[in-house]
Amino acid sequence: MEHSNRESWRALPAAQQPDWPDRAALRSTVSALSAAPPLVFARECDTLLDRLGEVARGEAFLLQGGDCAETLDSVSAESVRNKLEVLLQMAAVLTYAAAVPVVKVGRLAGQYAKPRSQPTETRDGVTLPSYRGDAVNGLDFTTRSRTPDPARLQRVYHASAATLNLLRALTAGGHADLDQVHEWNRDFVALSPACRRYERLADEIDRALGFIRACGMNTSTLRTTEVFASHEALLLDYESALVRTDPDTGRRYALSGHMLWIGERTRQLDGAHVAFASEVSNPIGVKLGPDADPDDVRALIDLLDPHRTPGRLTFISRMGRGRVRDRLHGLVEAVRGTGADVVWACDPMHGNTFTAPSGHKTRRFDDILDEITGFFEVHRALGTHPGGVHVELTGEDVTECVGGGSEVCSDHLHLRYETACDPRLNRGQSMDLAFRVAEWYSA
Ligand code: PEP
Ligand code: MN
Repeated sequence: MEHSNRESWRALPAAQQPDWPDRAALRSTVSALSAAPPLVFARECDTLLDRLGEVARGEAFLLQGGDCAETLDSVSAESVRNKLEVLLQMAAVLTYAAAVPVVKVGRLAGQYAKPRSQPTETRDGVTLPSYRGDAVNGLDFTTRSRTPDPARLQRVYHASAATLNLLRALTAGGHADLDQVHEWNRDFVALSPACRRYERLADEIDRALGFIRACGMNTSTLRTTEVFASHEALLLDYESALVRTDPDTGRRYALSGHMLWIGERTRQLDGAHVAFASEVSNPIGVKLGPDADPDDVRALIDLLDPHRTPGRLTFISRMGRGRVRDRLHGLVEAVRGTGADVVWACDPMHGNTFTAPSGHKTRRFDDILDEITGFFEVHRALGTHPGGVHVELTGEDVTECVGGGSEVCSDHLHLRYETACDPRLNRGQSMDLAFRVAEWYSA
């Protein structure tokens, strides 16, 4: 947001950056990306900022979701369409229940870089660099695949462009038609073991849509929608190569996506990631784990939202089900005293990960739901707005998280465990979550 300190982040320590062996190749990739067209348009970032301002004021709800880590090989028409469909289906249920617009933000078209707790991984006595996302290296455990390769940054740029292109075509071209989305929801309910439980809400939505049609309201707002793209701003070489100055306003934007967030491992107050984000005008998210304290949160606001712009900052809490009730309260109170209109979103995934007996990293549906319930309880007690949810999901029928209406059990995790990083809710589990969160509004 500040123009005076532009690029000051370059002098600060940047956590979680790859050790690129070929620096000359990195420089040439960065210079090619710096000359390439941006992936999104500055006005779109401003539109999302306005929408998030509405969320911050309690007039809208944020649904943010997608893969933990996108992979280059899985960018296909089908996977993008499936992810979009599940977001639209969840949004339809949540819009009705919360009775406010749902701002849809995909974790997609750029979510290719991962922070890791260990820089290396050892298997059978062989030690190689950890997988850091397809933007950096490959998941295969070989020296060749695990060596960071800057050419991947260009592949990520092109894969993100293709994803965004399809997303825009689908959302503008009729695939987001609300009647059709509701039909998919009816199909989900009909086949769900929790059919009886969800049917009432689905019937109510039927009647609401019937009312809208009867009133002759068949406008384009029912056939098209806005879906924004977001990812973690982790690789500062890539992100800075896609920063552009808007010729109309002179403001700088990170045009690799509409919204960028800073992860729990890179939100150091004196680190490069926070400084980088402070120098661009996009909406910014910051993950807050259970160790975040009120001073951190106030300092983040001063650094990232000095002008107190509603929706500029989204705090994404990821405390774990056992700690959300205890830890979140003080942070929300601290923010209230600053005059900032932030969005509070709940990431119920990252504090609830454990290893199943089979060795798979997984999460329980009930733990995820319990963290969201705790998040709602804290906001209800304080009279603040539970602004949204941030979830890892996919439109496919994978078996990565346990539980949900169709009960994935831990013995079944191996059947379709396809994530390159963290376990995602599958399509049915995502819909279960939407219906269960919806129930919270009528409780
Ligand atoms: C993530 O969102 O995939 C992630 C790494 O989260 P966090 O920064 O909250 O650990
Ligand atoms: Mn993750």
